[in-house]
Amino acid sequence: MNSAEIKEAARSLGADLVGIAPVERFEGMPEISDPRTFVPETRSVIAVGYRILRGSLRGVEEGTNFSSIYGFFGATYMEKMYMSRMVYDLCCMIENSGAVAAPVLSCRCADQSFVPDYKEYAHAAGLGSTGKGGFFLTPEYGHRQRLAFIFTSLELEGDEVIECDFCKDCDACIKACPLGAYKADNSLDLNLCRQCQNGAKVIPNEEVDRCASVCARACMVALEDKIGNRFHAKFRKRSVWQRGIHGESLTSGTPFIGGKCPDKIEGK
Ligand code: SF4
Ligand code: SF4
Repeated sequence: MNSAEIKEAARSLGADLVGIAPVERFEGMPEISDPRTFVPETRSVIAVGYRILRGSLRGVEEGTNFSSIYGFFGATYMEKMYMSRMVYDLCCMIENSGAVAAPVLSCRCADQSFVPDYKEYAHAAGLGSTGKGGFFLTPEYGHRQRLAFIFTSLELEGDEVIECDFCKDCDACIKACPLGAYKADNSLDLNLCRQCQNGAKVIPNEEVDRCASVCARACMVALEDKIGNRFHAKFRKRSVWQRGIHGESLTSGTPFIGGKCPDKIEGK
């Protein structure tokens, strides 16, 4: 299979994003994340992405649903059902041609000897680049995608590496963080993120999933007229709710009841 055939197959199986990085682009990468540590025959890394539905973030934005809608459609189902099925089928097609194809999901494959660096792989494959807020950003969906990879022995033509310049005059994500987790150099205090009750999701033994948190939703709002995936109506309908480190409301001063945000209950 060649690059064009791989991309056509990935798109027909449901991928919203697909890009390719020849393995030479990982020269100098720490050994623990180098694709060849996991699959020595790797000649190319295929990066695929599924959009995270904007609608799956609605419940968190409104302060009415914190886990089941985003948790399933934005995270769990996305990785365990939709994307893994697509990656599996694409690997089967590659293996049918006699080549090596090893699947890697972005958030689920770390162990002691191999820790995938999914932002570096996706960047090398031309999908986008990492923004100031630490999110991997693409021109099509901003921060709203989940990624997976196939390490293959196929020698494939690589895509052009791109840098998204969305962050130039923007610091919306940093300003939106109620816990001050961004340090002066824009790195994160992940201990604070792990305790964050503003939509962040802690995955055991993994990085915190910040995709639905108030920092990432600020990024989504900042980019909605800049990315390719646009909508008839703006995402943000009301004031932004925020919780402090102990779960207290920072916006209304009243405690949360039954997991619902009091600002939204009061219709502010
Ligand atoms: S996850 Fe929470 S604590 Fe971490 S940067 Fe985002 S808003 Fe701040
Ligand atoms: S909110 Fe702005 S500065 Fe932060 S990652 Fe998004 S585009 Fe970059």
